[in-house]
Parts: sequence; C-alpha cells; structure tokens
Amino acid sequence: MRCRDWCMVASTYEGLMARPVWCGSWHCEECAEHKRAKLIAEAILGQPTTFLTLTTNPNIEPDPDRASDMLLDAWQRWLRQTRHNRPGDDIQALKVWEATKNGMPHLHVLLRAPYLDQREISAFMAAQIGAPIVDIRAVTSASQVAGYVAKYIGKAPSQFANHHRHDRTRRWLNTSAYRKWLAHHTVKYQWQLLHVSLDDLALRLQPHAHTRRDRDTLFATTHDPPRAGPITNRGPTGPRLCGNDSGGIPVSVPQTHSSHSVSQNHADYSSHCQTSRTGVSDVR
Ligand SMILES: [Zn+2]
Repeated sequence: MRCRDWCMVASTYEGLMARPVWCGSWHCEECAEHKRAKLIAEAILGQPTTFLTLTTNPNIEPDPDRASDMLLDAWQRWLRQTRHNRPGDDIQALKVWEATKNGMPHLHVLLRAPYLDQREISAFMAAQIGAPIVDIRAVTSASQVAGYVAKYIGKAPSQFANHHRHDRTRRWLNTSAYRKWLAHHTVKYQWQLLHVSLDDLALRLQPHAHTRRDRDTLFATTHDPPRAGPITNRGPTGPRLCGNDSGGIPVSVPQTHSSHSVSQNHADYSSHCQTSRTGVSDVR
C-alpha cells in the first residue's frame, strides 16, 4: 500500500471526517517524521526516571548484528534479574537502538525505576558480554527526555539484525501522564476505509459540501442547514458512504472497502491514526 493512497472516513454530527492512511515506514520521509514525534511523545508519557546507555565490546564481537544479539540478551537478563531481585519495584523501559560512528550498536534505555547503581550494571554487563561501559543519569525534565531521544534516534532509530528499532515494556505507558493524554484524545468513531486519497476525496466532495482541512483531517459539512425530518443515509446521487448518517452529503466514492471497517474505540496510541498533530498529541 502506498503512503496515503487510502483514507479513512467517519460520520460526525456535522457530516464527514476523513484522514489519510499512512504507510508507517521509517523509510518514508513524512511517516518517519511522525513516527519520530510519536516515539518522543511515548518516551515522555512513560515518565522515565533514568537514562541508561549500554554498549558492546568490538574486541569481543566485531560484527554489529551479532553484537546486538548479545547486547539484547544481556539487557533482557539484567531486566529479568533486577525485577526478580526487586519485586516491589515496577521497572519499565523504553529502548532505542543507535549505531555509533563505527557502526556498532548502543542501546539507549529510558527507565522508570527507583535508584539503580551504575557500578552494579557495569559489572553485570562486563560479566555477560565484556562491555563494562555503561552510562547512567537521572532524568530531570520532559524536555530533557525529548532532547535525549531526538539526539540518539536522529532521523530514525538504527536497526540491527531483525530486532525492533525501538520498543517498550508492556506497562511503560501505564502512567498518570498517559491516562491524562488519553482522556483528552479519546475519540469514538466508526471508521471506514476508502481507496481514495484525501486530496481526491476533498475534490469529489467540494461540489456537494463545504470542506475544511485541519492539518491531516478533512471535514465536510453540507451547505444547507440540517433539515427537519428523518435523517437519510443516502445522498441524492451516491451510494451510502458510511454505516450511519453521512450528514446528507451526496458522495459517490469508488472502491469502498467496507470489509475493512475500522472500529477505533479510542485513539489507539499504537495505531497509525492520530487524533491530533500538535504538541505531545502529535502522535500516531
Ligand atoms: Zn508514509
């Protein structure tokens, strides 16, 4: 699927709302920009307490992919062991790969955890993979988190072997900050996929409706004030566009893909459908 070849449409009280469907690839310039913003927002909303950087030792394993395997294993063992030893602490993490100048992997980890001892982690990594260089520092502000993540991911986080470029533990977003964010961005719409770009949809709607663009969202409302009487799902000329009221807007869009009706009960944080693209909510 090419980026933004499709859009998703939902009925609102005023008429229709449509958004493009993004390809979501780090290789796509525009998507990468928004994935980057999303990653930074996730990092901040996880309310980290600590930055941790783990390294590899090229004298022991010069191949970057194999070194990343070793580093990932060591990290997972450390996390398991630390959680086991400190059952009362809910240790959560978001991690991002970075390729250094010589191509070797660094693992940058944002941690939400009580005090961690650098010497302990360094000794652990030395014993596991012969890489005692461990950097640890306390988080002081959200802007520091944003700067930290932005610095290490550059245009896109690096990829080693078949590991995810970045990921987070299951409860990373189990924070008051994220719940607050969600409360402000909860949307309940029934989305329907249409094989038409947002620009084309806007062109098709223009003769029949007043259209307005707000960044990546297209709003369409009828020219006429709402009529009394039964609400119709059909425009005078076109087929039904959405499952419920389309605001009386006559739209005939080819290749509707009704089997892909999307139920978005909330602005699924991990989905590619953003609710807003400003500030922290600049998240898809
Ligand atoms: Zn894209």
